[in-house]
Amino acid sequence: MAECIFCKIIKGDIPSKKVYEDDAVLAFDDISPMAPVHVIIIPKKHIATLLDVDTNADIMGRWMAAAQQVAKMKQVADSGFRLAINCNADGGQVVFHLHMHLLGGRKLEDPLG
Ligand code: 5GP
Ligand code: ZN
Repeated sequence: MAECIFCKIIKGDIPSKKVYEDDAVLAFDDISPMAPVHVIIIPKKHIATLLDVDTNADIMGRWMAAAQQVAKMKQVADSGFRLAINCNADGGQVVFHLHMHLLGGRKLEDPLG
């Protein structure tokens, strides 16, 4: 997926501030943070949306394990944080490479209103 922004970040063609990396997952600071801690966590394999991932695949556990690591590394594990996955248009997905947002570092507003 040459045109995918996150694939370009994985390849190093677009610079990013890496937070965590292993063979399957990459995490980097969001370019436009909504909170003091705002990290994007992605599978290295190009998967467009949450609907396209095999939920039984190893990547699901690896992806969540990376989120645990990022929360600890960013020191929001105890204070608390939020994971968000936007899917398709009404869900607010803009980049079509599966990702979760890890947000923390301040009291987050209630997204369910
Ligand atoms: P979405 O709305 O698709 O769930 O979120 C995409 C996120 O990717 C946004 O929060 C946006 O700020 C972030 N983003 C988009 N382009 C880049 C980029 O080139 N670098 C980084 N670090 N984040 C990006
Ligand atoms: Zn991609």
